[in-house]
Amino acid sequence: MNTAINHDHIGIEGFKKQADGSFFARIKLPAGVVSSQQAAKVADVAEKFGTGSIHLTIRGNMEIHRLQESSIGQVYRELKSVGLELRGATGPAVRSVSCTSVLADGFLQGQILARKIQHYFTSNPHFEGIPKKFKIGVEGCYQDACHLIQDICLIYSGETDGEKTYDVWMGGGLGRHPMEAFLYSKHLPEKRILPLIEAVLEIYMAEAGPGVRLKSLIKDKGRETFIRELDLKLKDRKDLLLRAGFDQHMTVPAAEPGRGKLVVPVRFGQLTSASLRILAEIARQFSGGYLTLTSSQNLVLFVAGLAGEMEAMKHLQDQGFLTDDMIVGINFRTCPGNHECQRGIVATRDVGSEILACLGENGRGLKIALSACPNSCVRPQTADWGIIAKGKEPSFDVYHRQGENLGKPVHKNLSLDELLNLIRDID
Ligand code: SF4
Repeated sequence: MNTAINHDHIGIEGFKKQADGSFFARIKLPAGVVSSQQAAKVADVAEKFGTGSIHLTIRGNMEIHRLQESSIGQVYRELKSVGLELRGATGPAVRSVSCTSVLADGFLQGQILARKIQHYFTSNPHFEGIPKKFKIGVEGCYQDACHLIQDICLIYSGETDGEKTYDVWMGGGLGRHPMEAFLYSKHLPEKRILPLIEAVLEIYMAEAGPGVRLKSLIKDKGRETFIRELDLKLKDRKDLLLRAGFDQHMTVPAAEPGRGKLVVPVRFGQLTSASLRILAEIARQFSGGYLTLTSSQNLVLFVAGLAGEMEAMKHLQDQGFLTDDMIVGINFRTCPGNHECQRGIVATRDVGSEILACLGENGRGLKIALSACPNSCVRPQTADWGIIAKGKEPSFDVYHRQGENLGKPVHKNLSLDELLNLIRDID
């Protein structure tokens, strides 16, 4: 492919330029679900055009780093050839719609709705060119403060008169200025969800300047004023329910009730293309042909029947995916850090290895998140212990979460040695 790249558009198309001149591609997977065929293609592309490694993000996306500009056209063609979506994965856009409650019962409903919402807003001409990124989450239950940190988060709340309903949280976000979302509405019927998101986006687009997130707009306007305007906009807006001819393409059988859930730990969310290919094949055989990414950067197989689970586990063990040290670190999540991200202050996989070594068995079951800069991409404030690197001479702030709210800072400006000493004392 010889056509030159339009650099004005490349951000919205899921490619981002890094400080070293290379690009990364982020693949937008609704609810983190990817088919075996798609995963195998991602592995091929990472091997052919990247370094042969794939990063799993906590919002259920896949990233391929270190792509050369000359290969972008081919990467785009290959990923699109298996139906993978890139548009809006980066840049000022409605981003992938996440559903992180993969292990909860409500995941089946959540991932269907996440898929519908993502399909509706991707490339929607009315909602391109928004002031900054806009994150939507759909969750099967309240867990890990997921409802507090999205622009809009919908939590499945059951059925009323045969209609699925959702609690709606709004205006949350982390980054350098964390803000907890507020509860806008309880038990909103599904047919009101798209009109609601459209109305929020319209206010956001009309009133927020470039680079401003929804949380800041709401803070500046005042929550009461924002809600009043939103209610007014919604008053005469018609219901919109995506259904006819849609669900058959949008239901992922792998998440059907009655299937067991096998978590495959992925250390630091980093997979080699060879590993991803093997997992894609195991998923084809045992998990209805689907893999699902989790918010801890692991993968889940939904396997039918005890015999199937046992056999899938044996395959995973034979391939070295279920070793004990991997299982201890199963809830440790980290961003690419300065291995790949131009903003990264520390090498997260190196620091992460030291932290895991200090934790040892104490790490079993603990949720720990390490972000390599204050942008907080791996949501440190939602983990049991969150660590944020900052400054030119790197130091670390430590957050601890105990109640329902976001974690609060409990230590500031620690050196690496001080951090590791603290970690040794955690139990
Ligand atoms: S937290 Fe900072 S270093 Fe890590 S991925 Fe986000 S922007 Fe990059």
